[in-house]
Amino acid sequence: MAAPIVIVGAGLSGLAAALELEAAGESALMIESQDFIGGKLETTLVEDAYRLDRGFQVLLPAYPELHRFEALSTDLDLRMFNSGARLETDAGSLVMANPLEHPTHAFETAFGSFGTLKDKLLILKLQLQVRSQEPDALLSSASGSTRRFLENYGFSETIIEKFFRPFFAGIFLERELETEAGFFKYLFRMFGSSRVAVPAKGVQELPLWMANRLKRSEIRLSTRVRSVSGNSVEFEDGRKTEARAVITETAPPNDRSAFGAVTSFWFSAPEPPFEGAWLSLNSRSQRPVGSLNHLAILSNVSRDYALKGDALICASVVGHEVTSPANVRDQAEAIYGGSVKSWRLLREDRIFKAFPLYLQRHDSDTPSQQGALARGRAAARNVLKRL
Ligand SMILES: Cc1cc2nc3c(=O)[nH]c(=O)nc-3n(C[C@H](O)[C@H](O)[C@H](O)COP(=O)(O)OP(=O)(O)OC[C@H]3O[C@@H](n4cnc5c(N)ncnc54)[C@H](O)[C@@H]3O)c2cc1C
Repeated sequence: MAAPIVIVGAGLSGLAAALELEAAGESALMIESQDFIGGKLETTLVEDAYRLDRGFQVLLPAYPELHRFEALSTDLDLRMFNSGARLETDAGSLVMANPLEHPTHAFETAFGSFGTLKDKLLILKLQLQVRSQEPDALLSSASGSTRRFLENYGFSETIIEKFFRPFFAGIFLERELETEAGFFKYLFRMFGSSRVAVPAKGVQELPLWMANRLKRSEIRLSTRVRSVSGNSVEFEDGRKTEARAVITETAPPNDRSAFGAVTSFWFSAPEPPFEGAWLSLNSRSQRPVGSLNHLAILSNVSRDYALKGDALICASVVGHEVTSPANVRDQAEAIYGGSVKSWRLLREDRIFKAFPLYLQRHDSDTPSQQGALARGRAAARNVLKRL
């Protein structure tokens, strides 16, 4: 029997590599150290009732690599967030929505007190600009930090602080928006092209669906690769196997010093603190380190996230500082009111090495599902060329 093509890791990139190999008539032996498929996309059913993703994570169907999967939205039963966000300001909450998708909020969006009319026109201008460019061209443009880019583009301090900063801090997993503006522009284009989604039963449905499409490959769980030397793979227990080729690009390099960090607190509640599938942003003027940054009510997006009919809430704090559940609850109470007292903590996900930050880079290997899928597919194509 021919030696296998070994893929280290069954996260998105490993699975994308395996699918690419199978499309070319090959198969793979996937080695995964954890006891589940999906890497950073993990969903756990807790108390037979709540589906908790590990950290708050969403899919952007506009990502070119996800777009390639034709049946994705129906097979995964994708549920959409509303387009825009709720801004929880000092003066109460406001909705900033895409007026084409949510016309009832158009007036509030255009004239709401969270930015100038110029800001809103600049948002439209920027959306048109990024749409006129290819996604990869946006990534390769050298433009400094996102913060600097937004300032230079003419956005007011108010809209940067109340909207852009909490919204993109939740994606970059760093509070200062130091991430390269090319990645910001890329994401801004994606957000303009599709709504943010989650699979009805949790984000891990994506890697599980990919794994199900593999017909000839094997996935070996709970097996760690200790080292790879040429085509020789050594496992943690000392066993070795000779491979026809080895794909290791699936586990991103861990040698960069700056990592995105987040702590997500999962709560159940008898009632949701607000209605609608909105991402809620902490847009208050005082947001010291350790503040709540964003909150989502997953059960408002998909009922399958909370099977008993109550609410499932995920509140996230961006950064490396340790924040207690009591602190987050106090902050939430100041924003959403007294009903927060009835919230029950289900789990706390402290993820201090979420991914290497995308700083001073201009390549397509972004710390995203898109980046992982593209990296895996490219690794497989390289192997296929060499076989
Ligand atoms: C909290 C959080 C929120 C995120 N939110 C988003 C989001 O909303 N949108 C978005 O696009 N991206 C998001 N991301 C980023 C996205 O999840 C990752 O970029 C992507 O999942 C990385 O996939 P990967 O396959 O490259 O790596 P991983 O998912 O890390 O997979 C690598 C796999 O390799 C295995 N492995 C590693 N070493 C070995 C070894 N020696 N032997 C065997 N197995 C090994 C690991 O166990 C793992 O399963 C988020 C990430 C985090 C952490």
